Amino acid sequence: MDSPQVLPPQTALAARPLDGRVAVITGSTSGIGLGIASALAEAGAMIVLNGLGDAHEIDGLRSALAARYDVSVRYDQADMSDPADVAAMIQRTARSFGPVDVLVNNAGVQHVAPIDAFPDDKWDAIIAINLSAVFHATRAVLPAMKRRGWGRIVNVASAHGLIGSPFKSAYVAAKHGVVGLTKVTALETAEHGITCNAICPGYVWTPLVEQQIASQAEAHALSAEQVVREVFLKEQPTRKFATVAEIGGIAAFLCSSAAASITGTTIAADGGWTAH
Ligand code: NAD
Repeated sequence: MDSPQVLPPQTALAARPLDGRVAVITGSTSGIGLGIASALAEAGAMIVLNGLGDAHEIDGLRSALAARYDVSVRYDQADMSDPADVAAMIQRTARSFGPVDVLVNNAGVQHVAPIDAFPDDKWDAIIAINLSAVFHATRAVLPAMKRRGWGRIVNVASAHGLIGSPFKSAYVAAKHGVVGLTKVTALETAEHGITCNAICPGYVWTPLVEQQIASQAEAHALSAEQVVREVFLKEQPTRKFATVAEIGGIAAFLCSSAAASITGTTIAADGGWTAH
């Protein structure tokens, strides 16, 4: 140790590191998207909520988020299955809040059926919402991010972006596609101060999951507890659901300066599922 040691610079984990940043989170009217929107609002970002649902309820979420975190929150009703609407959402955001700094591609739908009985319209909808919308939104935000030399793109893929499961052909194909697109986006933007990463959750506790417990318990003649352990979390070694707050925290970390060199990769939040 010849030269005197100096402390490294601070980690810049400021209280509100995203103050003044504009964040669009697709599919954020419930579940994981709402968890991510809350985490980014807590970090100080202006938020654009998007997704389906009752207008009155969504407005309640919008104003609750704005009040709790003292940030501006807008709602955009763009339909992620419509490429023109996806691009229009980014333009509307630029007009109201300014150019998008953080894009979280989260909207997603699921349908479960064997390949030889998989309905064409379900295949098309899953590919459009879970995969093509990621491309259309990414394409729409990149020019302004490149001009400004900063951007964060977080794609919510899935453990099914890393491994397959039977009866989920469209979902698994779309999520593997999202992981591939994440890598290409990262490579094309690497010199522009932009990062792009995919979060790959296993099973996350959301209202949708909660609703399914009772019906699954009845279908399998099991207790609610057995359904959780033996049906839902059979593949998840922790036997615990991740929470939407955990996924929100990962997204906020990926947007922080501490994650500036993390790009083109996947972060599995699956309780060890893909470690098998
Ligand atoms: P969710 O159903 O609670 O939320 C989905 C969101 O997408 C909702 O806001 C919904 O309104 C929106 N949406 C659906 N179709 C849309 C459309 N055409 N246009 C705009 N918005 C639309 O589900 P979730 O569990 O929170 O899932 C969010 C994401 O996380 C999805 O991409 C899903 O594949 C992924 N994921 C979820 C889990 C889990 O266990 N819940 C696990 C891995 C990955």
